[in-house]
Amino acid sequence: MADKNAPILVAGAGGFIGGWLVKDLLAKGHTNIRAVDIKPIEQWYQSFPQVENLTLDLKIADAAATAVHGTKIVYNLAADMGGMGFIESNKALCMLSVLINTNLLLSSRENKVEKYFYASSACVYSHIKQLDTNNPGLIEEDAYPAMPEDGYGWEKLFSERMCRHFFEDFGLSVRIARFHNVYGPIGTYDGGREKAPAAISRKLAAAVLSGNHTIDIWGDGEQTRSFTYIDDTIEGIHRLMESDFTDPINLGSDEMVSINQLVDTVEKIANVKLERNYNLDAPKGVRGRNSENTLIKKVLGWAPSISLETGMEKTFKWVLAELKEGKQRSWN
Ligand code: NAD
Repeated sequence: MADKNAPILVAGAGGFIGGWLVKDLLAKGHTNIRAVDIKPIEQWYQSFPQVENLTLDLKIADAAATAVHGTKIVYNLAADMGGMGFIESNKALCMLSVLINTNLLLSSRENKVEKYFYASSACVYSHIKQLDTNNPGLIEEDAYPAMPEDGYGWEKLFSERMCRHFFEDFGLSVRIARFHNVYGPIGTYDGGREKAPAAISRKLAAAVLSGNHTIDIWGDGEQTRSFTYIDDTIEGIHRLMESDFTDPINLGSDEMVSINQLVDTVEKIANVKLERNYNLDAPKGVRGRNSENTLIKKVLGWAPSISLETGMEKTFKWVLAELKEGKQRSWN
């Protein structure tokens, strides 16, 4: 964005990705940022005094109107979400995030917002395409015929669709990224909403500190995923916003690993070997998932490239330092 004074809203700025996005926008010289989250500011993962920080519940239309008022660029990263443990048992709460996107879209139309970013998810993909650990990569068309993750995935798919129709019918210029399992420092690693990379980092860090060298793994550990380091996600958001591409697009690493391989990676970083206990009754999600990056390479001339080992080293070291300080990073 050439205009560094353009008024920007980052919704969900108190969360993991939102916090990193605000930090990066400031580093790029943006001077006019409003950061909004439902949490009280002292609970935000990152907050910056040079930004207008507001606590608002964007499920409420008036609050969304206040958040969007006077802005030209809107990033919607606000959602009631978490890892598999959270979304499998909080489907209604996940679906209520539809109110956030609906209110933000309506206010953006009203305010003649110039660009609107929506944070979608790999959870929109049909589960029929994710039955095998050896996933060839999900291409954007694989979201239809629709059979996404129950609750959370349906909300994301519906909200993507709503963005599309606000573009087609009202001319609101939208950008829609399907994130694939984003991880990195200064995110949730405890409390029930954490995702696999943060949870595994916490379990490894706890084992290192306690000397109890066992680890619980959800499922048989053979389920596959790709994990995207936060810096790649932030870079991809900027590049997508600079582009004129308005359809949903994968923004994810295509380095697919099993959960067992993820644990191997962190064991190597932590220099420990743990005895693995497999909890076959725990939430497992789909059997195999990977990002297919032909479209993003074509459209942006770029794709995420930070290796799992590089990203997990930074993430593990941060979680270990947190546990050493006796902290707990969760969101309830
Ligand atoms: P996060 O939970 O850390 O951040 C989301 C933020 O939204 C939280 O700080 C929360 O307080 C805020 N929020 C929730 N309800 C709100 C409301 N009613 N009003 C205002 N704020 C509200 O999650 P994240 O990892 O930073 O994810 C950001 C976005 O990216 C979300 O839309 C999420 O669904 C999407 N996404 C994330 C991942 C991932 O792996 N982290 C993957 C796919 C999609």
